[in-house]
Amino acid sequence: MTSPTTTTKRVLLAAPRGYCAGVDRAVIAVEKALDHYGAPVYVRKEIVHNKYVVETLAARGAVFVEETDEVPEGARVVFSAHGVSPAVHASAAARSLQTIDATCPLVTKVHKEAVRFASDDMDILLIGHTGHEEVEGTAGEAPEHIQVVNSPEDVPGIVVRDPEKVVWLSQTTLSVDETMETVRRLRERFPKLQDPPSDDICYATQNRQVAVKKLAPECDVVIVVGSANSSNSVRLVEVALDAGATASYRVDTAAEIEEAWLDGAATVGVTSGASVPEILVRDVLDRLARSGFGDVQEVRTATEDLMFSLPKELRADLKAAGTPVPRPERGARQSLSVEPA
Ligand code: SF4
Repeated sequence: MTSPTTTTKRVLLAAPRGYCAGVDRAVIAVEKALDHYGAPVYVRKEIVHNKYVVETLAARGAVFVEETDEVPEGARVVFSAHGVSPAVHASAAARSLQTIDATCPLVTKVHKEAVRFASDDMDILLIGHTGHEEVEGTAGEAPEHIQVVNSPEDVPGIVVRDPEKVVWLSQTTLSVDETMETVRRLRERFPKLQDPPSDDICYATQNRQVAVKKLAPECDVVIVVGSANSSNSVRLVEVALDAGATASYRVDTAAEIEEAWLDGAATVGVTSGASVPEILVRDVLDRLARSGFGDVQEVRTATEDLMFSLPKELRADLKAAGTPVPRPERGARQSLSVEPA
C-alpha cells in the first residue's frame, strides 16, 4: 500500500492488459463475416465475454443466440472463442448451418488433450467453473471421462475409477495460484496424478495476472475493466487483492467508478481482462484524470506478439472472393477494434 504521507496521485497501468490473441481473432472474425456476407450473422453465445464488444457487434448486425436451434435453418453461425462441444457441432450440422468456428486455438488444444486422455481411458479432472461455456465445451468432448473440479474444496469428494489413471486439465482463464493449490490437493489424494502436456491456463491469463501482481502491492485500489461473466477479469480482482491491493473493483465502463473508491487514495492500479478493448481502458484513465489521477505510469512485465489467423472457413471464403485479409498490427488493433458502427 502507498505510504499515507504520499500526496502525489498516480495511476499504475498494467501491461500486458486487454485483448489477447484469441479474442482479437474472434472479434475480427465476426467483423469480417459481417463485411463479407452481410447482416445478419448469427453468433452462438457472446463471441467474447464483454458487454461493449457484444453490443457494438450487435449494432452492426450480429445476432447473438444461446443455442443453434435459434438460428434459421441453413444460416451462418459463428461459434464463440470459448469453444463448443461435439454435440453443438452435430446440432449445427443437423440444421445445415454454415459454421465459422472462432474457438481460440488455445482452447482447442485443451479439447484435443481431453480427447487423447479419454481415448487412453483415463479419468480427467477438469479444473474450472461449472456452467462456464469453455468448461461445457471441453467436458462435452468426453463426458464419460471428465469431472469438473471447481475449487480446492471439491477435492475430498472426487471419486475416480482407477487412481493410477488420472490426469488434470484446466480452463484457460483461471487463477494460476488457486489452480496450483487445487492440483496440490489432488496430488495428495492421487499421487500418480498426471499433468497436462503443457500449461492449459493460457499465456494471456498468466501475463495479466503477473502484471497485476507486480503493481497491486503499491496500490490503494486496483480497477479491473471487464464484464462480470469474464472469468479472467474476475480473477484479476482476486489476484490484485491477494497480492496486496487495499481494494479492487471490476467495472464494465468508466461510468461505474465511484468517487468514494478514490477518497484518500494515492495510487490507483488499472488493468483489463483479455476480452476488453483498449478504448474502455482509455475512458477509465480519462475518468481518473478528472479526479486528479493524471500521472499514468505503465508497469510492464511481458511483451506479447502472438496472433492467430482467422477461422479456416472464413479465410477460404475471403480468399475465394479475392478479398485480402491483412493481419492487423496488434497495437493498432487494440484501439481501433469494435468502434461503434
Ligand atoms: Fe485464448 Fe487465452 Fe484469450 Fe481465452 S484468454 S481466448 S484461451 S488467448
